[in-house]
Amino acid sequence: MKCIHFVLALMSIAAISCNGGSAKTQVMKERHTVSQAKFCADSAYNYVKSQVDFGPRIPGSDGHKSCKEYIVNQLARFGADTIIEQNLTATNYLGTDMPLTNIMGRYNPESDDRILLIAHWDTRPWADADKDVNKRMLPVPGANDGASGVGVLLELARMFNEKAPEVGVDLLFVDGEDSGNSSGWGSSEETWCLGTQHWVKHMPYTPESMPRYGILLDMVGGVDARFYREYLSQGFAERINDKVWSHASAAGFDKFFLNEVRGGITDDHIFINRAGIPCIDIIECSHPATGSFSPVWHTVSDDMNHIDRATLNAVGQTVANTVYSEKSSK
Ligand SMILES: [Zn+2]
Repeated sequence: MKCIHFVLALMSIAAISCNGGSAKTQVMKERHTVSQAKFCADSAYNYVKSQVDFGPRIPGSDGHKSCKEYIVNQLARFGADTIIEQNLTATNYLGTDMPLTNIMGRYNPESDDRILLIAHWDTRPWADADKDVNKRMLPVPGANDGASGVGVLLELARMFNEKAPEVGVDLLFVDGEDSGNSSGWGSSEETWCLGTQHWVKHMPYTPESMPRYGILLDMVGGVDARFYREYLSQGFAERINDKVWSHASAAGFDKFFLNEVRGGITDDHIFINRAGIPCIDIIECSHPATGSFSPVWHTVSDDMNHIDRATLNAVGQTVANTVYSEKSSK
């Protein structure tokens, strides 16, 4: 993903909506009951590590192939009712063809009351943000940028198998997110999220079964991570940010989920919103050391040393509580 730079005027609007958001959270807090279903951070951590152990998941690589089989096998193990593998060939901005597979695990696919949860499973082929210029052509290990979101989704799959939510859930693992053009200021959003750009043209939904909303998880395992309401999510789907941040607060995760708008990220949620599904991005995009992503982003240091179970737990339990609180319309 790529950080979008905004002028200061937009940031002051963000500050105003932050204050409004805090008051709302206080009211909503009393209505939530914390879910009984327990997210296991150790399991999520292990699912992250398994992916990293395959090596970089660059489209077409051995690690990519192994990881695809791993995700499909885990979904089968966790009782997904339907598993869809959507294969495509996409061309990256350098003109290289990439074999991609979007994977979806569906729980209760008959229900028209649905929630969509998304993470990208590919990793960036080049560590082009590394401080050491000699390392910039090396692949990114992708522990946080890729594997963390997938690890949380796989642990949620385990939970949904153990205790079914009232609504149907689709877990979508998109490919080809992270081979985009990071240089320059020009618009290059179409070079990112190649799997998602294909998926939105072939969604498995009727008008009646369109998901109520989507939640994208990207870089959700960093040490001491802080999650702000991402700027574009707030514009597309403010009520979903309200819902998720209030669940986080009710579960005691105020330290991780800050009720303030920041960032503005080119990521899979943009294309999903444009396809008609309100979708937010939970992403670490305001690190104190950089003002945007964490210092290990798109470097060779995005490894297991920078993954924290407490962060995975805060995100995973919050998303679980959000999904389990959804009521069926029937
Ligand atoms: Zn990335």
